Amino acid sequence: MSAKINVTRSSMPDFEEYCEEIKDLWDSHWLTNMGAKHKQLEAELKKYLNTPNITLYTNGHLALENIIAAMDFPKGAEVITTPFTFASTTHAIVRNGLIPIFCDVNPKDYTIDVAKIEELITDKTCAIVPVHVYGNLCDVDRIADIAKKYNLKVIYDAAHAFGVTYKGVSSANFGDASMFSFHATKVFNTIEGGAVCFHDNSLSEILDNLKNFGIKGPERCVFVGGNAKMNEFQAAMGLCNLRHLSAELEKRKKVVEHYRERLAGIKGIVLCAPQADVEPNYAYFPVVFDGYKYNRDQVFAMLGEQNIVARKYFYPITNSFECYKDYPTAGAEKTPVAKYLSDRVLTLPLYADLAIEDVDKICDIILG
Ligand SMILES: *Cc1c(COP(=O)(O)O)cnc(C)c1O
Repeated sequence: MSAKINVTRSSMPDFEEYCEEIKDLWDSHWLTNMGAKHKQLEAELKKYLNTPNITLYTNGHLALENIIAAMDFPKGAEVITTPFTFASTTHAIVRNGLIPIFCDVNPKDYTIDVAKIEELITDKTCAIVPVHVYGNLCDVDRIADIAKKYNLKVIYDAAHAFGVTYKGVSSANFGDASMFSFHATKVFNTIEGGAVCFHDNSLSEILDNLKNFGIKGPERCVFVGGNAKMNEFQAAMGLCNLRHLSAELEKRKKVVEHYRERLAGIKGIVLCAPQADVEPNYAYFPVVFDGYKYNRDQVFAMLGEQNIVARKYFYPITNSFECYKDYPTAGAEKTPVAKYLSDRVLTLPLYADLAIEDVDKICDIILG
């Protein structure tokens, strides 16, 4: 059987480059708690993402949980979000004692359907948590208008949108805050890791308290915080990977362009069109099978037989998770577009070093 092609493959620097980066940790013996690497990565990401404030985290999920906590919404308040996402988005809302209200997505770029947000707003609504799914940006202008009209906070799950810009503006700048994930499978990784970017300077101190036990000095603890700090080895990986990011994105672009050449214009195969005014990051390549000679599950199985792993991402959608079955807002049928997509979508293997011959092999199987 031929070599396995996974759905993704983590970006890594050369072994020697990473060793060089971590060498001085053997001098300092300072491994975590906002050390030199952490500070340097924070500064470099602040610049790269062009954001007024950034706080690093040990993973994206805790970054999202903490930024929601930092907003201090009343328990039981409602948060409008979408179910066409990773478990993390909905869990972060619920673990903060808030109620997720599921809005459907639009069939064009699979982000929140802005025409359906207002009908879900009640006097309990406190925030909107939209997702830049697959790196496709939400309609940030319309969402900003709605948030202003109803006085709601907007926290973007930007886990997929690292490095994406809209009219030249970094994805880190929309809404009140944006969470990025630097998980191994993401476009930019720190092994595990994440960050929150935000506008309100006063959130910095709250986030620092939330991620480090609320400890303010050797003899002062001012806040009931948890622990979500990024360590020095994670930050070192980030410093290395950031050096190679633009080259990685260039390579991803070539892979995506080849997929498009091979799969565009085929009846029953729906590709996500590039967004106007958006500089993408080529994070994922979702394909929707609708009326094609094979359905999604058949394509998934055919690829699997050839040792190629595609991903049913996102299936199931979060409002059909069994852990939410007793929630009054649960039920995939309430978000028909998200349900339709989750039954038909497959994300194909995509990473910087995926060979063009392998893209051809994958397309040959799909078109077979
Ligand atoms: C990866 C991801 C997260 C969580 O990030 P981690 O760094 O894995 O904790 C949240 N939301 C979405 C949409 C993701 O893809």
